[in-house]
Amino acid sequence: MTHRICLLPGDGIGPEVIDCAEQVLRALPLDLDFVRAEIGFGAYERLGTPLPDSTLDEIRRSSATLFGAVTTPPAIPNYFSPVVRMRQSLELYANLRPCQSIPHETSRPNIDLIIARENTEGLYSGIERLEDNGNRAITERVITRKGSERIVRKAFDLARQTNRKSVHVVHKANVLRQTCGLFRSVALEIAKEYSDTTMYEMLVDTCAMELIRAPEQFEVIVTTNLFGDILSDEACMFVGGLGVVASGNIGVNAAVFEPVHGSAPTIVGTGKANPIATFLATAMMLDYLNEVESAKRLRKAVNECIANNESTPDLGGSLTTNQVTDRVIQRLN
Ligand code: NAD
Repeated sequence: MTHRICLLPGDGIGPEVIDCAEQVLRALPLDLDFVRAEIGFGAYERLGTPLPDSTLDEIRRSSATLFGAVTTPPAIPNYFSPVVRMRQSLELYANLRPCQSIPHETSRPNIDLIIARENTEGLYSGIERLEDNGNRAITERVITRKGSERIVRKAFDLARQTNRKSVHVVHKANVLRQTCGLFRSVALEIAKEYSDTTMYEMLVDTCAMELIRAPEQFEVIVTTNLFGDILSDEACMFVGGLGVVASGNIGVNAAVFEPVHGSAPTIVGTGKANPIATFLATAMMLDYLNEVESAKRLRKAVNECIANNESTPDLGGSLTTNQVTDRVIQRLN
């Protein structure tokens, strides 16, 4: 079966790591068609918008999308975050971020958790206003039953599919009694449908502390948008950091996979960009496309490279972006 893959290189090191991922995908025994589309500050300068409608159409038409990174410029009137807009426009409601130990001295052992973060509402709903002549700023935190239900269900389904036995529901319902209160009560209702999975509740501040104290206790964490954003960046520091962590944005009709890092403007063109986070995003995309064997092969090749110190300087290695890509491709063959 042919999969149509939409590539969104974006800005900074985005195009570098997406080119590497395309080479890796072409080295696997897969039937793929590639299409490229525009996103980011470069797109804004060329086309007047950081997220053209044609890009959303290409994503909708594709089996899956691989996204590099964008640069968010300093205050420009009418500029908007194309990443947040893309997630909302395509209803990519689930942001899934796996954090797994890697065979490297900087990684803590025995970590194998997934953070499932609601991706379209909460404090990132985009409803903000200034009052009192600009002296009072308000952001509305929107939590809906529908949004809570689908992310909690996704988290419990994921636990089942990946043979994990527990889900931590993370909230702050003791203070945010309405918004987190709704998220919590929906989660408790849905948990009853999954009698094979143990549900734990944890307040977000406790979770931030427990993630540092004993990250290996977590299997799946499900939470709201901003809490998930912060906790998932925290968790990735135990498993190699920004150069090696990936995420997937999953909706009903579209899915976008990306490295967690940004456009890293200071290392553009230096060969220092670690392509591994994008390779792991590619592996997540292959799982989503049900190309499970290819995903396994790619993860194995990546782990072998890391274990043999065939890496970029952020992991203590001396190889360039392209050299790491070549080593991964050699190990695939
Ligand atoms: P960043 O992730 O780009 O970089 C943080 C640090 O990590 C830098 O030192 C960078 O050199 C390093 N780094 C990042 N990716 C790396 C890689 N693959 N290999 C080796 N080192 C890597 O975050 P930042 O510097 O805070 O932001 C830069 C720009 O990226 C900003 O405009 C920001 O808004 C944007 N950003 C975009 C996204 C996204 O597109 N999803 C995410 C975060 C930040």
